[in-house]
Amino acid sequence: MIVGSGPAGWSAAIYAARANLKPLLFEGAITEENRLNGTLPLGQLALTTEVENYAGFPAGVLSQFLKTAIDEKRQRMMAPITDHEHAVTGPELMELMRQQALNFGTRVVTDDVVDVDLDNRPFKVHTLEGQTVETHTLIVATGAKANYLGLPSEEAYKNRGVSACAVCDGALPRFRNQPLVVVGGGDSAIEEATYLSKYASRVYLVHRRDELRASKIMQQRAFDNQKLEIVWNHVVDEALGDEQQGLTAVRLKSTVDDSHREVQASGMFLAIGHTPNTGFLKGKLQMTDKGYIKWTSHFRTYTSVEGVFAAGDVADDYYRQAITSAGTGCMAALDAERYLAEHGL
Ligand SMILES: Cc1cc2nc3c(=O)[nH]c(=O)nc-3n(C[C@H](O)[C@H](O)[C@H](O)COP(=O)(O)OP(=O)(O)OC[C@H]3O[C@@H](n4cnc5c(N)ncnc54)[C@H](O)[C@@H]3O)c2cc1C
Repeated sequence: MIVGSGPAGWSAAIYAARANLKPLLFEGAITEENRLNGTLPLGQLALTTEVENYAGFPAGVLSQFLKTAIDEKRQRMMAPITDHEHAVTGPELMELMRQQALNFGTRVVTDDVVDVDLDNRPFKVHTLEGQTVETHTLIVATGAKANYLGLPSEEAYKNRGVSACAVCDGALPRFRNQPLVVVGGGDSAIEEATYLSKYASRVYLVHRRDELRASKIMQQRAFDNQKLEIVWNHVVDEALGDEQQGLTAVRLKSTVDDSHREVQASGMFLAIGHTPNTGFLKGKLQMTDKGYIKWTSHFRTYTSVEGVFAAGDVADDYYRQAITSAGTGCMAALDAERYLAEHGL
C-alpha cells in the first residue's frame, strides 16, 4: 500500500505495479481542507505552472525542442511529435505519472489515510471515508506543504510572482533582472536569496528580527553578497500588484514602530519552512523534531517500523525536489518488494 500522490507515490506505484505487487495507492481526498492546505491529490507539483528541471522534459516549446534538438535519424525512434506549445506543466507531469501507474495496474483510491495501526501485523490503515484496509507493507509518500504567510493578497499572486521554491521558479523570465523579495531568516532563506541573486537585479531579504537565525557561515555569505540587502525588523503586510502583471511590489510593516515601506519586486519568495504531512503518523514512527519521518538506515528508505518505508519530501527536508522524490519513491518500492520476498509474503 502506498499513501500519497506526488512524484514519490506514483514512482513507487509504477515500480511496485511492474513487479506485480498490485499496489493500492491512496491519493488523498478532494476536500475543502485539503484545497486550503495545498494537499489535494497529485501533490505539490500540481500547484505550479511549467516545470523546467525534471529530467526528460526540457524547457521551451516541447515539440520544437524535440524537432530541433534530437538528431533526425533518432527522431524515427520517437512517436510523431505533437504540437505541444510549452514545456510540461506540473499538473500535466502529475497526470502523466498517475496514468503511467494506472497502466501497470495500480489501484487508486481517492481518500485520505487518517490513522494507522503499525503495532500489529498485517498493518491496519483507516481512511477518512471510514474504510479499514490491511497491508503487509506500507510506503508513506505524503509529502509536505510549504508554509505561507496566510495573506489573501499572497494567495492572489501565487504562480504570478509569489513562490515558495527559488530553485524551482527563480530562473523563470518574470524574475530575471528584477528586484525580488525573500521572506525568512534561517539557512534556507539565505540559500534561496543567494540563489536568486544570480538572476535578480537586487534581492531584499525581509526578516522580522534584528538578527538572523541562520548559521554564521551562511550569515557571512549574505553580508558579502553585493546584490543582497537585508531588511531588518520588518514583516510583509501585503503583496501588491494587478491582474495583468501579477505581483509588482510588497508592502512591509515595521516590527519596532508603526511605519510601513514599499519595495518594488516582481517576485516574493517565502522561505519560512515546510510542514510534512505526518499528522496521522504521530507516535507511530520515529520522526525528527520538525515532524519529518526518519530514515533509519543509510541510503535505504527504511523507517523505525520494519515493513514501513518512506519516500519523498515527507522524509526529506533538504533536497525537496520532484526528481529526488521520484528517486526515493523508486527506492521505497524496491525496498518493499525485497521485504515482502524475504518474509515470504
Ligand atoms: C509551487 C511549487 C512549485 C514547485 N516547483 C518545482 C519544480 O519546478 N521542480 C521540482 O523539482 N520541484 C518543485 N517543487 C517541489 C516538488 O513539488 C516537491 O518536491 C514534490 O512534489 C514532492 O513530492 P512528494 O511525492 O514527496 O509529495 P507531494 O508532492 O508533497 O505530494 C504528496 C501528496 O500526497 C497526498 N497526501 C498527503 N497526505 C495524505 C494522506 N494522509 N492520505 C492520502 N494522501 C495524502 C496529498 O495529495 C499530497 O499533496 C515545487 C513545489 C511547489 C510548492
